[in-house]
Amino acid sequence: MKFIGYSFLSTFIAIFVFISCNDQTTGTDSDTNGDSGNGPHPSQFNHTLSPGSSNEAFITDTDFDQLIVEVQYMPGSAPTNGSLDNLKEFLETHLDKASVILLDPVEIPSGGQDAYSAEDVRDLEKQHREQFTDGSTLASYAIFLDGEFSTRNVLGIAYYNTSTAYFAETIHRISGGIGQPSRSAIESTVFNHEYGHLMGLVNNGTDMQHDHHDSDNGAHCTVEECLMYFSVNTTDFFANLFGGSVPELDEFCVADINALK
Ligand SMILES: [Zn+2]
Ligand SMILES: [Zn+2]
Repeated sequence: MKFIGYSFLSTFIAIFVFISCNDQTTGTDSDTNGDSGNGPHPSQFNHTLSPGSSNEAFITDTDFDQLIVEVQYMPGSAPTNGSLDNLKEFLETHLDKASVILLDPVEIPSGGQDAYSAEDVRDLEKQHREQFTDGSTLASYAIFLDGEFSTRNVLGIAYYNTSTAYFAETIHRISGGIGQPSRSAIESTVFNHEYGHLMGLVNNGTDMQHDHHDSDNGAHCTVEECLMYFSVNTTDFFANLFGGSVPELDEFCVADINALK
């Protein structure tokens, strides 16, 4: 893993602020109406609920013992293999699934925009998504866009109950250069964080076993070392936190998840 220099730490501070800001918007951006379940891919399962509302579908094996993650990307925006491997491990660790399958990423045409709004992302999913929940298999969707979010510097969003989006132009801009974290480390952090929101964290579908909800900052955790932490003010925190690796869920977030199993 890369050496963590000052700029690395600074970058991660920025990342956390950015993913946090974004989630606060999308996490409360409930979209429960529309064409769910009645489109070209009939399904009893509603894929257009708000993030966190299918927390039990993700966490338990009661209704779904298998999870598939469909990954699509626009040209030049494919995620690293490392981040895909890390996401699979993260999901296998925290979800009660007999199997977690990340499908091979598939390229889709560019949307041709410099920036994409949450509504643009929803439209793109409607256009391109191919995997839907069926039988005992829960389907999730991740799309990598070749632009920025409409709110600049946002790296990723959770925008439906099974859907997440990542903004490759922004990710590439702050990773992989001299003194910058690796692209895999940033993607993994954002990937896992957004899937944490799909699991109903924090206090957004999944009940808390202890009070650790940073309610001033949306659906985030009060524990500074946690993957679901909102933001920080000191580089010392990151020096302790990262040690060169992607942050994990802290014991409170883990306890919330495990209480459902
Ligand atoms: Zn967040
Ligand atoms: Zn936490």
